[in-house]
Amino acid sequence: MNRVFLNGTDRQRALFDDALEQAIFPWDRIPHDVYVRWEADPEREYHNEAAVTTVSYKRVDACERPIHAAIDFRADLDSAFTERFYRETVVHELGHVLASMMHTSQIDRIVACYRDATRADWSPEVEDPTAGTNWTERVEEAFCESFKDVYLPRAYRQFNQRTKWVLRRDRYDEWLGVIDELCPCDRIIIV
Ligand SMILES: [Zn+2]
Repeated sequence: MNRVFLNGTDRQRALFDDALEQAIFPWDRIPHDVYVRWEADPEREYHNEAAVTTVSYKRVDACERPIHAAIDFRADLDSAFTERFYRETVVHELGHVLASMMHTSQIDRIVACYRDATRADWSPEVEDPTAGTNWTERVEEAFCESFKDVYLPRAYRQFNQRTKWVLRRDRYDEWLGVIDELCPCDRIIIV
């Protein structure tokens, strides 16, 4: 992963890199250029009032996976929230980058890891723009929340998974297995 800061203070940039460092994940296995911005007056409504990730499909790799992503953070994320929340937001957003690398069957397998979830729950607005669901009702968000729970040690983050979807204990190996397919690397540590 090549992270490119488009703006930000020294502190905002340092906290971003600190999140990468504290998370036990081989970021170099993510092929994306990730452009990072801090926006004082966001045009969008941020799903968790902290950040939003956008993936562009204009540039793709040989497997037609996108390799360009942008993360917009609230400009006051480093002052309005705790450092722990800032870090976990960084890792959560990078979960969206990872999710963009999944092909359909991998998304299906991740969905099946969450109790009672169906494929339509992955990202309902994409299937039906009028669905208007809260972010905590999307399985993609559950994946991102689980991602930061698994790879960012508890001492460095604020919350446990906050969506309504529960990761099934008996599917945890399957969940890790999909990530291992996306980022094959013996440095992924199972915790
Ligand atoms: Zn999210």
